[in-house]
Amino acid sequence: MVNSRFRAVEEAFARPPVYAEAPSAVTSDYYGCKVFNRKQMRKYLSTETRERIYESIEQGVVLESGVAEHVAAGMKRWAMDLGATHYTHWFQPLTGGTAEKHDSFSEPYGKGDSLEQFSGKMLAQQEPDASSFPSGGLRNTFEARGYTAWDPSSPAFIMDDCLCIPTVFISYTGEALDYKTPLLRSTYALAKATSEVLEYFGVKGTRVFSFLGWEQEYFLVDSSLCALRPDLIMAERTLMGHDSARNQQLEDHYFGSIPKRVLAFMQDLEFEAYKLGIPVKTRHNEVAPNQFELAPVYEEANLAIDHNQIVMSLMKSVAERHGFKVLLHEKPYKGVNGSGKHCNWSIGTESGLALLSPGKSDEENLRFLCFMANVLKAVYDNNALLKASVATASNAHRLGANEAPPAIISSFLGSQVTKAFEELLNSRDMVKIGAKKGYKLGIPQVPELLIDNTDRNRTSPFAFTGNRFEFRAVGSSANCSSAVTVINTIVAYQLGKFKEAVDGRIASGTPVMQAVLDETRECFRACKDVCFDGNGYSEEWKAEAIRRGLDCETCPPRIYDACTSERTLEVYRETGVLTEPELQARNEVLWETYCKKLEIEARVLSDLSSNHILPIAIRYQTLLLENAAAMKTVYGEERFVAMSPGLLESIEDISRHICSIRRMSGELNALCNELDEIEDSREKAIGYNDRVLNYLEDIRDHIDALEMEVDDQMWPLPKYRELLFIR
Ligand code: ADP
Ligand code: MG
Repeated sequence: MVNSRFRAVEEAFARPPVYAEAPSAVTSDYYGCKVFNRKQMRKYLSTETRERIYESIEQGVVLESGVAEHVAAGMKRWAMDLGATHYTHWFQPLTGGTAEKHDSFSEPYGKGDSLEQFSGKMLAQQEPDASSFPSGGLRNTFEARGYTAWDPSSPAFIMDDCLCIPTVFISYTGEALDYKTPLLRSTYALAKATSEVLEYFGVKGTRVFSFLGWEQEYFLVDSSLCALRPDLIMAERTLMGHDSARNQQLEDHYFGSIPKRVLAFMQDLEFEAYKLGIPVKTRHNEVAPNQFELAPVYEEANLAIDHNQIVMSLMKSVAERHGFKVLLHEKPYKGVNGSGKHCNWSIGTESGLALLSPGKSDEENLRFLCFMANVLKAVYDNNALLKASVATASNAHRLGANEAPPAIISSFLGSQVTKAFEELLNSRDMVKIGAKKGYKLGIPQVPELLIDNTDRNRTSPFAFTGNRFEFRAVGSSANCSSAVTVINTIVAYQLGKFKEAVDGRIASGTPVMQAVLDETRECFRACKDVCFDGNGYSEEWKAEAIRRGLDCETCPPRIYDACTSERTLEVYRETGVLTEPELQARNEVLWETYCKKLEIEARVLSDLSSNHILPIAIRYQTLLLENAAAMKTVYGEERFVAMSPGLLESIEDISRHICSIRRMSGELNALCNELDEIEDSREKAIGYNDRVLNYLEDIRDHIDALEMEVDDQMWPLPKYRELLFIR
């Protein structure tokens, strides 16, 4: 019998690149063709209707039902012109993915006829049978009603044959059951607080946005190989696998030339993304073998997040066409880099003011320092909450490892901004930020480079990178809303406090700019402990961070406590982003999800141990025993011992591993059963964290040792060298 692993390896090796049907036009010809954007609206909606919908998008005005009727009619015609037959409310439940339930436009009409229908009501609101989505107890199943409601600020689009309408998902009683609702509330809170502070600088009547540019890292693995790894299929990460002799130590993958088969996948993915108006821009190999990155041009956060969610699902379907499976898990392989999703975040105005960019005049620089200080203070005061926004079972494997920031939130500012703040602390006047310095390369044919205002420090979780903060702790599989909502909310809250303080100073006679300057100084003084430019991996930093009062907890179920602390409740109450019951419900979901993820891993590992690994180990051990017995018979005891050094040790070694694996997987199963009895979800999650994780590691060590001993011809699971290097 041929080991199916070898067949899969052969298949993977022989798989040719699949070139997508080359787009016949330049990108700009088909860009956004599957989006109901302003260009399409001009074609399908009357001027009057368009004005109403722009108003709704820009000012959050609720659309009257009559107008919604016109919009729906135009949208339906557009969608049908592009071959759509179905529509869906597309939303982002707390599972982290997206949800859609397709309904056909087609309705029976008369006797034996049908008619395509799509009304304003169908566009505006739906009531999906939502009882199976996680709600953290907000929705009892006997009252399982949840509503989806259209979010006109994110345009409708077509995927396959379906018109997708981005919506929020809320309970019967109005509580948020999704990621989008609090995100939109936080965007609103931030815009309001920012506008109020901007008034000190004479900026009025312009809309304020939070912007997001995500960088999506991912792994590709050949689908034939993946099919033989139940752990990859069920848990999206390898639960076993000995290091490959070669992994990333040659550092030859990062920015290396993109393998042809992968390039074909990327082109196909980009083609699909462009049609959906997603401004993908950058593609490259990442550090680990078979790891890659895709990044778009930044957009308004709500849209950027929808686009990221769409891209993650496009990746999966496009990968299938290319014989790949895409892995979005933060740590699919032990011993090589994991995947993150850096979230580049900034605030700006519609009129083009970038509030986190240093300016030219004193006033512009004060504005810059003012917003910087407020962001830093928000991060300092809420560092535990910010960490909670990215803490998941899968991301916990990545944070603190040698490719990702540590699980302590601090901020890197770079030398020039640090210096500007130091000057601010020591003076009563304005400070100047050094102009960009030219850097002479000494190569005549290459012009002078302008070095950025900031340095680079890859170990910093929340680094300032010239005109934005880069939040690097976000996991590759995450819905970025979780992180962005927290950033928006805490900054909105802080700006509110800042304004109160400045107004107090002004009321007691200080001139406006001086009041802003003085308060900015105090704000920075109070939070400068969050700034750290050193090596985030060092042990000294951990000790120092504790001294500075930064949260150093690494266990996700305990980190989640920060989501309902007194401080957090107050921040969310003041900004109106989430109520206490909503926050508590979300924590329930976090704890439950944590347990489920670990339970799946435990059960998969235990199954694999008993059905895949132990039978093979025993078979190989029997071969060795037969060999020993035959040797002894032919040569006699004494010569056998001399001729076969290590043979018996090997047999004993295998026995030891077999015994340990058998014992521990039994114990692990029993432990899961025991933990499942615990009612309280927090307590249960902590149980999984404290008791199950060790088992996963220990069992794995034995299996990995066996992988090195057992005949390669017999080993059933594709090995790291195959998963990581074949494409
Ligand atoms: P790097 O790998 O050096 O971090 P990338 O080019 O991969 O940089 O990604 C940078 C991301 O930051 C892109 O999505 C880019 O659009 C985004 N970005 C740039 N400027 C801003 C800004 N002002 N606000 C938010 N995001 C930004
Ligand atoms: Mg980056």
